[in-house]
Amino acid sequence: MNKRAIGIPVGILGGTFDPVHYGHLRLAEEMLELAHLRQIRFIPAGTPPHRDVPQVSAQHRSAMVQLAIADQPAFVLDEREVRRAAPCYTVDTLLELRAELGAEQPLCLLMGGDAFLQLHTWHEWERLFGLAHIVVGYRPGFTLEERINSTTLALRSHYQQRISSADALSQQPAGAIVELAIPKLEISATLIRSRVAEKRTIRYLLPNPVADYIHQHNLYITC
Ligand code: ATP
Repeated sequence: MNKRAIGIPVGILGGTFDPVHYGHLRLAEEMLELAHLRQIRFIPAGTPPHRDVPQVSAQHRSAMVQLAIADQPAFVLDEREVRRAAPCYTVDTLLELRAELGAEQPLCLLMGGDAFLQLHTWHEWERLFGLAHIVVGYRPGFTLEERINSTTLALRSHYQQRISSADALSQQPAGAIVELAIPKLEISATLIRSRVAEKRTIRYLLPNPVADYIHQHNLYITC
């Protein structure tokens, strides 16, 4: 018997967004389409617990996300992490969203394959599966299955038990891992920061209003 859909999933894309760029935006746009999401919430990190402190303030990073997503009504800026006092973990964000949106609402935590292979380093990472699905963008022609052996036994075993097709995302509120073939643009925030510091062009790596914002506010002029 076919399983019934319980709701249209909401996507969550967390990141430092230091700055946001077309790699993030294409990942979100492809996932919106392939995972049939109703909305994607872009959630800039405040003080990320497991990576370097962002180079520019949360206010600047949020403002750049707002400019970047202005013409896509399905993309929404969610500033809850930048408002919260540090440290701030994804598990806490998902607990809040679950309380606000209800127990039945399917939630999808979106990430690139590189981020997924490090998931076991996140705070209370195994609780994430009880709160959201995890949707991983991976390069076409490659699969996570080929890379999963390079990670921990615990992450491998969750992957093997939970890997599902995109249909699962609307049939249960949380708990599936779905892999989507998404071409990765070779763009990173690191690349953009170093290009600005070297006074090189960043045009076409990110939306023009974000590039203009960076120049107007003299962001990233030192690496
Ligand atoms: P940095 O260069 O500072 O490490 P970044 O460009 O990787 O930053 P993040 O804010 O760390 O950006 O990324 C947020 C999410 O977006 C992560 O899940 C990451 O895997 C994904 N992502 C980043 N860049 C790309 C890209 N070019 N294509 C697809 N996904 C990406």
